[in-house]
Amino acid sequence: MRLIVLASGSSGNAALIESGGRALLLDAGISARETWRRLGACGLADVRIEAILLTHEHSDHVRGARVLARRLGVPVMATTGTLTAAASCLSDVPETIAIGRKDSFSVAGIKVRSFPTAHDAAETCGFTFESRRGHRIGVATDTGVVTGEVLAAMEGAHVIGLESNHDLGMLESGPYPPFLKRRIAGERGHLSNEAAAAALDALSWKGLSHVFALHLSEQNNTPEAARAALVAPLRARRGVTLETVGKNEIAACSL
Ligand SMILES: [Zn+2]
Ligand SMILES: [Zn+2]
Repeated sequence: MRLIVLASGSSGNAALIESGGRALLLDAGISARETWRRLGACGLADVRIEAILLTHEHSDHVRGARVLARRLGVPVMATTGTLTAAASCLSDVPETIAIGRKDSFSVAGIKVRSFPTAHDAAETCGFTFESRRGHRIGVATDTGVVTGEVLAAMEGAHVIGLESNHDLGMLESGPYPPFLKRRIAGERGHLSNEAAAAALDALSWKGLSHVFALHLSEQNNTPEAARAALVAPLRARRGVTLETVGKNEIAACSL
C-alpha cells in the first residue's frame, strides 16, 4: 500500500492511497488538471482511481472533486453533512455516497474507517486505511484538537499524516486579525505544531514507520518549526521518518 500526498495546505489538499494497482483519492482540493499532472510526475498516470473520499467541504479539499469525479466516472464519498454543504461543487458527479463519521467500508480493496475530527465545517472526519496485508495508514488534518477518538484511530497505524498547521508563537505575533487567530487556534480550527507533537507523544505503536506533517500554514509556520516540534516525540521511536510536506511538494511512502 502506498500513500502519495499530492498537495497539502490551504492552497489545496489531495492524496492518493493505492494498493495493488487500485486507488482512492483522499480529498480533491487542487484542479483536475494539476491532479493529473502530479499523478503523472509520480508515474501514476494510469492508476485506477475508484472513488473520491472527502474529509469536509472547504474549498481547499473539494475544488477539483466535480471535474475529477466526472472524468473518472467515480463516486464522491463523504458524510451527509459534507455532501450537503458541498452540493454546489458536486453537481453532475456520477454518484455521491454518504458515509458515517464513525463508519467502516471498503473502497478499491482498501478497508476504510472514518473518525470525527474537530473543525469548523459541517461534519468533518479523518480516515484510516488498511490493506489486505494489514498495513495501516491514518490521516487527520483540519482538526483544532486531537480528541481521544482521533488518537484511538491513529493507534496502530504504520504511516500517519497529521496536521501541523501553525506555530503558536508565530500565529500569535503574526499579521492575521484577532478573529482569525482565534478561529485557527480554536478547538474547531487547525492543529498547532505543539498539539501535533503532543498527539505523537501519546501514541505507543511500535510499528509506526513514517510521519507526514501536513497542512502547514504558509503564514504561521515553517517546515523547520514543524520539524523541530514533531521530532522531539519521535526521538524515542527509532526508525520513524518525519517528513514535512509544503505547498507544491509531493511526498510518498510505501508499506
Ligand atoms: Zn484544509
Ligand atoms: Zn478546513
